[in-house]
Amino acid sequence: MENLKRLFENNRSIVAEVTQADPEYFARRAGKQEPHFLLIGCADSRVPIETLTGVAPGEMFVHRNIANQALSADINVLSVLQYAVEVLDVKHVMVCGHYQCGGVKAAMGDQSYGLVDYWLAGIRDTVRRHDFELQRIASSEERFKRVVELNVLRQVYNLSRTPVVQGAWSRGRRPLLHGLVYDIHDGLLKPLVLQVDGNDKARELLETPRASIGD
Ligand SMILES: [Zn+2]
Repeated sequence: MENLKRLFENNRSIVAEVTQADPEYFARRAGKQEPHFLLIGCADSRVPIETLTGVAPGEMFVHRNIANQALSADINVLSVLQYAVEVLDVKHVMVCGHYQCGGVKAAMGDQSYGLVDYWLAGIRDTVRRHDFELQRIASSEERFKRVVELNVLRQVYNLSRTPVVQGAWSRGRRPLLHGLVYDIHDGLLKPLVLQVDGNDKARELLETPRASIGD
């Protein structure tokens, strides 16, 4: 109960602080939301992307699940994507993974975790598809990091294949797709692939090892 009480106390003091500096802060945001970003991230509590990127309420539409999956049969993420692209007209759709992701780690092992195994099946498939590359990484920690990155690239590719994104692109419209990874050791976001704006670039996703920041 102490922890829960702390949430309400923090909420009241943060609101008091914000409204003292800007009395209309919340009132201005109570109207229409016009976010520029859709973030698909992991549910992990150590990944506070909104806090660490300094976005204000109304700037980032967010969907989070275990291991930041964008699965073609997941009506939840597809509905979020459709609303973000077709109604909110977001310019940027970002998949953000993170190192030390428990979901990715579970998918890399042989142990069964029950229901969540179904959810993680796509990551197991990614590990199998990239077996050649992964077997050549001597350090298990580096291999783990690489699977986190490959998982992000796979989800960006998955997004590119959805009817929502295909439809938008065929009409010459946004969104731009991006793949990022968050390093929980230093708090920094690293771009893996940026500005995927069509099928040619999407097709390269699963073959391209890494993208440069300048892309
Ligand atoms: Zn995670």
